[in-house]
Amino acid sequence: MSAKTTHVIIVVGAGPAGMAAASSLAKAGYEVIILNRDIKFGGLAEYGIFPAKLKLRGGLKKQYWEMLGQANVHYFGNVSVGNGKDLTVEELRGLGASAVVFSIGAQGTKTIGVEGDSAKGVFHAKDVVYHFNQLPGFGDRPFDMGKHVAVIGAGDVMVDIAHWLIRYKKVESVTAIARRGPVERKYNPKEIRSVCSNMDIDGITIEFTRIKDRLAAVGQHADEVLKGLTGEFTKCEPKVSDTKMSFKFLASPKRILTDAHNRVRGLELEENKLEPKGEDTAAVGLKQYYEFACDSVVFAVGDKVDETVGLPYKGGVYVTNPNKTTNDPDDALFQAYEEKTGTVVEGVFLAGWARKASDGLVGVAKRDGDWCAEVVGRYLATKTTDNPSKIVLDKLHAMLKARKSQPVDVNGLRALEAAERAHTGATDCIGEFKFAVNQEMLSLIERGRK
Ligand SMILES: Cc1cc2nc3c(=O)[nH]c(=O)nc-3n(C[C@H](O)[C@H](O)[C@H](O)COP(=O)(O)OP(=O)(O)OC[C@H]3O[C@@H](n4cnc5c(N)ncnc54)[C@H](O)[C@@H]3O)c2cc1C
Repeated sequence: MSAKTTHVIIVVGAGPAGMAAASSLAKAGYEVIILNRDIKFGGLAEYGIFPAKLKLRGGLKKQYWEMLGQANVHYFGNVSVGNGKDLTVEELRGLGASAVVFSIGAQGTKTIGVEGDSAKGVFHAKDVVYHFNQLPGFGDRPFDMGKHVAVIGAGDVMVDIAHWLIRYKKVESVTAIARRGPVERKYNPKEIRSVCSNMDIDGITIEFTRIKDRLAAVGQHADEVLKGLTGEFTKCEPKVSDTKMSFKFLASPKRILTDAHNRVRGLELEENKLEPKGEDTAAVGLKQYYEFACDSVVFAVGDKVDETVGLPYKGGVYVTNPNKTTNDPDDALFQAYEEKTGTVVEGVFLAGWARKASDGLVGVAKRDGDWCAEVVGRYLATKTTDNPSKIVLDKLHAMLKARKSQPVDVNGLRALEAAERAHTGATDCIGEFKFAVNQEMLSLIERGRK
């Protein structure tokens, strides 16, 4: 690429997928500009993964700092892309970069649309997770959970929420409510270690007795399944509260029950049975309803992408090119696609949870970012550019200045990191200090510049 102008690639979103894509593209010698909504990089690695997972978080942070120290990587934190944001998708595309990668995660909220879901005491898992991870806008908001909490879902996010409720909020009870049965639970057995010393084994045994005939109807033996479920309660973290954790299986929330102050007092649940569906099972409502008393409800049922950004969107996901290629990885899967015109959105790519919402752990997002970089590399091999990075960066700075945006560069991030380490004030749930308000961070960075 030496005699030619080097391609500039803009990566929007600095979570695990975006950082992986940026890293691969920077290694390949391209100029990379990273725009990120949050001041800090990391996405859910900073604001989603449970704070106590210090090894995982520390390892990722180290890699990200190394990448951001490279001369061909330019970081702009506190810059959101979307309609009514710092830059629209079209403005971004007009900056003259050769390609744009959207790795903005799945920021929309999936709901199951039940009556009463706007009552006080109803929360979405991502908001709760953002709260205990101190994401600005969430960290300083009260989350009043009451004493008895129902968490809808049976995946790892349900376990993380239970972890926080049991070990830090020390509520009286946490009940995971699952549409299907114990066999269909989705959490990783390792994750359950964080909460298994609080399991209400008697309560769980009673629950199995309640549903055993419905399990037997699809060939599942309650005793064996119970043994399998409780057999995973090994290497449990030490008990620090009297919270009782349990499950309610074969139950679909139909209505949130509220008191005269529109505050949650319970859930109306519908009994389900299981029916075979290919290799899997499906939950089928039995039209039998009962009340389950609780003070708050957390929906941990997955995420969808943010449809307001301005990328082609349909049914919870951004649209990708349906015309498969024979390449591996398949270029089409990463290309944004306009269904109305039947064309790819030229030079616009998707990676990570922006491409497949709630799909997998950090390793999966990282691999997706790497694959996307490979696809972008193939695309750029057929192109030349007349726009050096200086021109693209000057245009970007001018546009952000005109918008009165306050981008944060890598030096600002370093000042922030040093200030957080030196701080001894209020802490998150594992004792680390994080600024939870953007303005505080921006003032601190500004003072450091003077
Ligand atoms: C509660 C929870 C717990 C988890 N725990 C684990 C775990 O223990 N171990 C594990 O390996 N994985 C875990 N995961 C999964 C892991 O977090 C994801 O796989 C990974 O973060 C997805 O990466 P991503 O880059 O696609 O999206 P994200 O991590 O969501 O990153 C998106 C980035 O885009 C930015 N952004 C968003 N919108 C815009 C916009 N409009 N303009 C500009 N920037 C924008 C955000 O600021 C963010 O930095 C967990 C996930 C959740 C939800």
